[in-house]
Amino acid sequence: MEHLVSGAAGFIGSHLCERLLADGHSVLGLDNLITGSRRNLAHLANHSRFRFMEHDVTQPLELAGRFGQVWHLASLASPKEYLAHPIETLESGSTGTRNMLEIARRDEARVLVTSTSECYGDPLQHPQVETYWGNVNPVGVRSCYDESKRYAEAMTMAYHRYYGVRTNIARIFNTFGPRMALKDGRVVPAFLDQALQGQPLTIFGDGTQTRSFCYVSDMVDGLVRLASSEERLPVNLGNPVELTILEFAERIRRLMDAELPIVFEPLPQDDPQKRRPDITKAKRLLGWEPKVNLEDGLRETVEYFRALAPA
Ligand code: NAD
Ligand code: UDP
Repeated sequence: MEHLVSGAAGFIGSHLCERLLADGHSVLGLDNLITGSRRNLAHLANHSRFRFMEHDVTQPLELAGRFGQVWHLASLASPKEYLAHPIETLESGSTGTRNMLEIARRDEARVLVTSTSECYGDPLQHPQVETYWGNVNPVGVRSCYDESKRYAEAMTMAYHRYYGVRTNIARIFNTFGPRMALKDGRVVPAFLDQALQGQPLTIFGDGTQTRSFCYVSDMVDGLVRLASSEERLPVNLGNPVELTILEFAERIRRLMDAELPIVFEPLPQDDPQKRRPDITKAKRLLGWEPKVNLEDGLRETVEYFRALAPA
């Protein structure tokens, strides 16, 4: 039966479509192209088992056919984008999630919903384990994203508990790779774009905040494994190798140009100070852990950005 992928023209969604096709499935991709791009799916356009529909998941959708698996990735995902589109972000996490869950209920399909490490907010527990309830500012500027995903998780659990839908929730931590939008403001494309143009790397705050970066092929593998598990509660997926943003900038300089200057800019409001996934649960339940190291992943990503023709 066909797989339905929302957010298919986005960064992770396009890689997921590719993986599902390689595994022999048929795929219908949905995307309203608010941040995604047809270019991310151009290489699949003539694939016999792939079709694409431009569609906003917050709107009702009558789809002919029956789906075996729904993957809900549609959302604004980068801080720059969700701060610019707070209402759309809340709507894709709430109404959009409900619409995708409804399709799964109608078709007796499985459904995987992508949530985020932002559910932990600016965490007081470190590393973050799934049982931690988080420290989210419910009315801060990032709340449009954090709360939309927390609502999405709650709605997903309700569909499982009330209707018996076979659901999974992935709490995705910072993921990077080819097909990220160069200008989406997230730190990996931002630094690579700056480095490719020989411009200073912009560190927000003093650079002591930490993140860890998971390469996209590892993330897609984690999602695929999670979708065939019977675990209904959220599972963290991410790379546990943690570094400060200052250390990350140093890695970029080593890889691209040791002379690149660094400039410091104000830290955005509610920017989490520390973030690292505890992936014990994913290891135990899915036999999953990331394989691609940061330098190898960055090299692939740089190659992609270098080859990118202007949009
Ligand atoms: P992305 O912006 O590249 O992709 C998201 C896609 O969703 C885009 O193509 C966008 O056009 C589409 N979209 C947004 N609203 C929509 C709507 N209403 N209807 C239809 N399509 C819509 O981002 P990504 O990094 O690929 O993220 C994919 C998912 O993973 C998102 O749900 C995001 O919240 C989650 N996530 C990603 C990361 C990460 O580091 N990449 C971290 C945590 C969670
Ligand atoms: N960041 C930065 N410079 C940039 C973009 C981001 O220092 O040009 C920082 C940002 O403040 C955050 C971290 O890098 O602390 C990761 O930011 P990103 O937007 O990639 O994702 P987040 O983890 O905040 O969702």
